[in-house]
Amino acid sequence: MTASTPSTGPGGPQSPAGPAPHTGPAARGAAPRGILDRLDALREADLPVHGGRTMAYVYDSGLDGVEELAAAAQARFAGVNGLDMTAFPSVVALENAVVGRAARLLGGGPDTVGTFTSGGTESCLLAVLTAREHARRTRGVTAPELVLPTTVHAAFHKAAALFGLRTVSVPVDPETYRVRPEDVAAAITPRTALVVVSAPSYAHGVVDPVAEVAAEAERRGVLCHVDACIGGWYLGHLRYADGVPHPPAFDLSVPGVTSLSVDLHKYGYTAKGASVLLVRDAELRRHGWFAHASWPGYPVVNATLQGTKSAGPLAAAWAVLEHIGTDGYTELSRRVHAATAALTAGIGALDGLRVLGRPEASLIAVASEDPAALDVFVVADEIRAEGWYLQPQPAFDGSPATLHLTVTAAVAGEETVRLLLADLAKAVERARALGPATVGPALAEAAAGLDPDALGPEEVALALSLAGIGADGALPERMAPVLAVLQALPPRLTERLLPEVIGRLYRPESGAPPAPGEGSRPAEG
Ligand SMILES: *Cc1c(COP(=O)(O)O)cnc(C)c1O
Repeated sequence: MTASTPSTGPGGPQSPAGPAPHTGPAARGAAPRGILDRLDALREADLPVHGGRTMAYVYDSGLDGVEELAAAAQARFAGVNGLDMTAFPSVVALENAVVGRAARLLGGGPDTVGTFTSGGTESCLLAVLTAREHARRTRGVTAPELVLPTTVHAAFHKAAALFGLRTVSVPVDPETYRVRPEDVAAAITPRTALVVVSAPSYAHGVVDPVAEVAAEAERRGVLCHVDACIGGWYLGHLRYADGVPHPPAFDLSVPGVTSLSVDLHKYGYTAKGASVLLVRDAELRRHGWFAHASWPGYPVVNATLQGTKSAGPLAAAWAVLEHIGTDGYTELSRRVHAATAALTAGIGALDGLRVLGRPEASLIAVASEDPAALDVFVVADEIRAEGWYLQPQPAFDGSPATLHLTVTAAVAGEETVRLLLADLAKAVERARALGPATVGPALAEAAAGLDPDALGPEEVALALSLAGIGADGALPERMAPVLAVLQALPPRLTERLLPEVIGRLYRPESGAPPAPGEGSRPAEG
């Protein structure tokens, strides 16, 4: 669950006085200024993307001028199409520069190659696709398997679903939340196309034992991907910082690691739509590419899942990397490390909360010491009222309900850390007084009898109404009760119901199509 929508009714947000400013079919165009004002108005209901108070989804370097530079670079390349690199050689130059930087930072050698992608999900998808085709073409594997610790990012399950691989889940150590190498070893079969480890995992911020797992994968002739999407840029630069503990080796320099994903739109602090997949060598990378010459149109070579793709995010990433530089990133990593350490210690000292595992990167998972007395999801609702967004993570497979904090450079600074800890302490007190969110017995009973695969529209409507979600999909202001329900349902049922909830939000604006000459008048100015 990623958002609450306080004022959404059927057909989208509407004010009683008439359509909201962005609605209404327009036959005649409007002036730019009014249009941009309408966009600004829409942003008012969103979480802030600056200042570090939104501790998921957004990454703020806190440095002056970085976003302006990214926006200017993006604007210059917005119309350039990365689909055809022969028509736009600038794309090749920029991509080689960006991928080269990533490879040098993250243990690449002379043979290392890579691909610039639209984000971590696409990098992970391509790693799996590459491995599937490699296994099929070089080892004749026709029913490929993907060995995944239970803490791996959802993107790998998406890849398995899209590309037809069977997932083999490996539990993690219940104390450290890291996968055990011997459990991975036991899960590898002749059908294994790829083993994945995280550096770090999103949910707990801990680094899997990359060296041991990669060595075992290599011994068995299997590829090994390191998902360093969130932590790679941060941890890579932290290694250059003095006076901080350095992370264990996790990158392409580790024997047996064959690919690695790192998102630039996270700790690279570049505009969204920027990630890199590094691959051992070009011979492996080619298996993930798509080429097509059997049609009457232009010959196609796609290195990514997209066809036409704007070079804007690539240009922005290049510009921001050039501007911040290795020294700049090292300093940002140092600040983030200090803030994470201070927050981890401060949260651990708060009565009622505990930090799970030992965070090795910039991510913190906070659990309740006694969920029957203190519900972290109620804490999230309470602290949201103070302007902080801490991301709820429902309990799963031995990992209790937690709040996730992504610490970015904008949070760094004693004052912000102190404020957050003080607001968190107050939110904990109020949440304790309010008590945990509970699930109605009727819902629990109904849920137990539901088969996710056999749910028709009526059962879905009933389940959602029991969960407190209206027919229009409007989510309540307070999320704790909804999250309590989510957590009580079997994951497969949640997976059946969540798209129904979100699907109710995405309903096109209605109204008659505009006739020529009709519709809203252009705004003046
Ligand atoms: C963010 C993330 C991803 C997916 O990246 P997107 O950019 O959100 O598509 C994959 N793995 C990990 C560990 C992540 O944190």
